[in-house]
Amino acid sequence: MRKEISLSGIPASPGIAMGEVFLLDKEEIEIKKQRLEKHQVKKEIERFKNALEKTRKEIQVIKERIKKRVDPEQTKIFDAQLLILEDKVINSEVIRQIEKNKFNAEWIYKKTIEKTINSISSSKDEYLKERVYDIEAVSNRLLSHLLGKRRKALDRIKRPAVLMAHSLSPGDLVNIRKDKLSGFATDLGGGTSHVALLAKSLGIPAVVGLKDGLKNMNKGDFVIIDGDRGVVIVSPDEVTIFQYEAKQKDILKKKRKLLSLKSLPGETKDKKKIEIQANIELLEDVEMATKYGAEGIGLYRTEYLYLARSELPSEEEQKKAYQRIAEKIYPLPVVLRTFDLGGDKFAGDRSDIVEANPFLGWRAIRACLDLPELFKIQLRAMLEASAKGNLKIMFPMVSGVEELKEAKSILNQVKEELLLKKINFDQKIKIGIMIEIPSASLMADSLAKECDFFSIGTNDLIQYTLAVDRGNERVSHLYQSFHPSVLNLIKLTIEAAHRNGIWVGLCGEIAANPFATVLLIGMGIDELSTSPMAIPQIKKIVRSVTYIEAKEFAQKVLKISDLQKIKKLLEEDYKKRFGSEGIICLY
Ligand code: PEP
Ligand code: MG
Repeated sequence: MRKEISLSGIPASPGIAMGEVFLLDKEEIEIKKQRLEKHQVKKEIERFKNALEKTRKEIQVIKERIKKRVDPEQTKIFDAQLLILEDKVINSEVIRQIEKNKFNAEWIYKKTIEKTINSISSSKDEYLKERVYDIEAVSNRLLSHLLGKRRKALDRIKRPAVLMAHSLSPGDLVNIRKDKLSGFATDLGGGTSHVALLAKSLGIPAVVGLKDGLKNMNKGDFVIIDGDRGVVIVSPDEVTIFQYEAKQKDILKKKRKLLSLKSLPGETKDKKKIEIQANIELLEDVEMATKYGAEGIGLYRTEYLYLARSELPSEEEQKKAYQRIAEKIYPLPVVLRTFDLGGDKFAGDRSDIVEANPFLGWRAIRACLDLPELFKIQLRAMLEASAKGNLKIMFPMVSGVEELKEAKSILNQVKEELLLKKINFDQKIKIGIMIEIPSASLMADSLAKECDFFSIGTNDLIQYTLAVDRGNERVSHLYQSFHPSVLNLIKLTIEAAHRNGIWVGLCGEIAANPFATVLLIGMGIDELSTSPMAIPQIKKIVRSVTYIEAKEFAQKVLKISDLQKIKKLLEEDYKKRFGSEGIICLY
C-alpha cells in the first residue's frame, strides 16, 4: 500500500471528487500517420532535428532546476535521458526512414522507439530493462515537441475518472464528456484561468497550480480532489476517505437547503433589487442557470462556440445558438458577450498565433476590430436572434472610448444592412461593455455616455491592475481580489455608471465570493453574475442584509488601505452574520 500524500494547489472549482486517476500527460500520445510529398522530406528532417534540440534544452533545464532540491546522485537520471535522446543509432535510423518511406517524423520516431523498447524488454539484462522507463520519458517529451500543442484525444477517457494533467485548456475541457469526468487537477494554472471558470460552470471540482502533481501520481492511483481547499490527496487512507465522504454528504445537505431559495428574488431586506444572474459558457449551462434560480444570463461567453474546433461557427449556427438561449430563458434577459478569444482561449489548434504576452496582446475586441468581417458575422447573428427582445450585446476588453465607438459603428452598419433587407430584429437592443481594464474604469464617465450598461470583469481587472497573470500559479499569491486599488476602481466605475444613469453589474469571480457580497451591495452594484451553482448562496447573503447597513459597511472597508486588514474585516463581518453555517465554497 502506498502512503497517503497530500498536495497543495489553488482552489479552482468547489466540491469533492474521488476516484481512479487518469494521467493525461504521462500516457501514450496519439500519433497519426501522414504521407509526405517528396519536396516535404527535407523540411520534415529539419523539424525532427529542431524537436531533438528543444527536448535536449528542456531536459537540461529540468536537471538544473531539480539539482538545487535533491541529492545530485538523483539527477543522473537526466544524464541517462540525454544519452538516449542523442543516441546516434536511433536518430540516424529515423532520418533514414523519413527519407526512404516518406512518412511524418512523429510516426517514424514512435515506430523506431517501439522497436527499441520491444528488443530491450525481451532481454534478460535487468539494468537494460530499467531503461525502458527513461526511453519512454524521453520519447514522450520529444513527441510533444513534434506535435506542438496538439493533445491526444481526451475522449479516450472511458469511465468517470479524476483527470490529472500538466495543464489543460478550456478547449481540452469542452472536449471531455462531462459524465466521464468527476474532477481534475493540473500542475499549472491560476484560480481564475478560464479552465477553472469552465470547471465551476460545469460543476466539476478542480484544483490547479499543484506544480508537482503529475510527478507524485501513477496510473490507477486513487485520489481525492478537494476543490474547496485546493488540495489533492493521493492514496488516501481509510480515515481520510471516511472524512471526505462525510464532507461530501454535508455539502449535499447544505446545497439542498440553499436550493430552497432558488425562486426568491435577489433583493435586500429593505427591498433594494440586486439581480442575481448566471455566467454561462455552453448552451447546456442554461439548464443549470434555471435550476439554481438565475434571474437571467449576465454573461454568455460566446467564444466557447468557437473553442475546441478549427473553424468559425457559421452565422446560421451562431444565430441558432443565441436564439435557443434567448428562448430557453425568456422572458429573462441574456447578455451575449462578443468573442473574447486570445489570452488563454484559442480556437482549435492555434499554435500559429504565438505571442510573448497573450493577455496583453491580440485579444477580444482588439481582434474583432481587426477582423471586421468576422465581427460582423457575429453581430448579425446576435441581431437576427434578438427579435424576442430579451438579448443584450456586450463588448469585452474595451480600453477606451474610441474602441467602443468603432465597435458601435460596425454594429450600426450591420443594423442598417438588416433594415434594408427587412430582417426583423430588436432595434432597441441594449449595448454594454465589460469594465475589465483599469483605463476603462478611469474613463468610465465618458464610456457610460456611449452605452447602456457596464459589467465589471474583476478576473481581468485584478490581473491588469496588479500586473499579475491570472493563469500563472507562480504569482497566484499576488492575485488579490480585495486589493484596495481594485476596490477603488470598482467604486469609480459604479459611481460613474450611476452618475450617467446606467446600471452596472459585476460578472468576475468575486461575484461568487461570499465575503464580497455585502461590500459590493454597499458599493451600489445593481447586478451580480456568477457560475450557476453559487447563485443560491449569494441570494441568501443578499436577502439577509439591508442596503443601509451594507452601505455603512462598504464605507468602512473603503477607508482601509491595508489589504490584510480589509480581508480580516470582510471575514469577521461574514462570520458575524453567518457563523460557519452556509459556507459551502470559498472561491
Ligand atoms: C472577467 O474578466 O472578470 C470576466 C468575467 O471575463 P473572463 O473571465 O471571460 O475574462
Ligand atoms: Mg475578462
